[in-house]
Amino acid sequence: MALLEIKDLHARVEDEASGRGEGAYREILKGLSLTINPGEVHAIMGPNGAGKSTLSSVITGKPGYEMTAGSLIYQGRDLCALEPHERACEGIFLAFQYPVEIPGVGFTTFLKTAINARRKYFGQEDIDAMDFLKLMKSKTKLLGIADDMMKRPVNVGFSGGEKKRAEILQMAMLEPTLMILDEMDSGLDIDALRIAAQGVNDMRSPDRAILCITHYQRLLDYIVPDFVHVLADGKIVKSGGKDLALELEEKGYAEFVARAA
Ligand code: ADP
Ligand code: MG
Ligand code: MG
Repeated sequence: MALLEIKDLHARVEDEASGRGEGAYREILKGLSLTINPGEVHAIMGPNGAGKSTLSSVITGKPGYEMTAGSLIYQGRDLCALEPHERACEGIFLAFQYPVEIPGVGFTTFLKTAINARRKYFGQEDIDAMDFLKLMKSKTKLLGIADDMMKRPVNVGFSGGEKKRAEILQMAMLEPTLMILDEMDSGLDIDALRIAAQGVNDMRSPDRAILCITHYQRLLDYIVPDFVHVLADGKIVKSGGKDLALELEEKGYAEFVARAA
């Protein structure tokens, strides 16, 4: 069974800036189809404004984004029937583009709460305090995260690199089934990018899939995809193997955008 099967997806967003008042919508995804199987890494590339982040918002069920046609099936279930927090509990994790700061909530507490929310969803008791600490210690060590960072409020005053590491730690602890990475390379220097990519690569497994959204080919030197898709004007206009990313880097998106119009 496919992990995620997207068929002819159309989606729109409430367009508050349109000046057309309430109830104004803008169609962004215009017939997008994509099948992701367990174990696969798919890269989505495309120009700014193509709808890449909108796709991740629709999959995770972000408020304001509305499917108008097509289907979205995750592990054989209609995703539309699940609330955003249920989708997260079912293993869908979106990381990176805008990590939120949560003043007043320590990072350790935050992680424990997230883990326990998921356990509760599956009718399990809270994680044992010692087990939690052991798990956290092993993962922070792997990612080179200092203990004092774990005591600070979530993302508050974290550097770009620290925010990415914090997100990877969340992923490593929550063990999602579908990891959606939205432009994880933005704002990272090459060393931080390497560490972040390593953290992601360590999580590759036969029963987990990754949807890696990026603007630049560079990231895909580190997270090598099985498939590359070009998203332009709300549709996938070309799919291929990892070499397609190199071709894009060379030629740019113009040709594909023209084809989509
Ligand atoms: P990408 O991630 O590929 O750069 P996005 O999915 O963020 O593109 O955006 C696709 C298009 O939809 C853009 O033109 C963007 O301005 C528009 N858009 C996204 N969200 C909203 C919103 N909430 N209101 C109005 N327009 C939006
Ligand atoms: Mg963008
Ligand atoms: Mg985006």
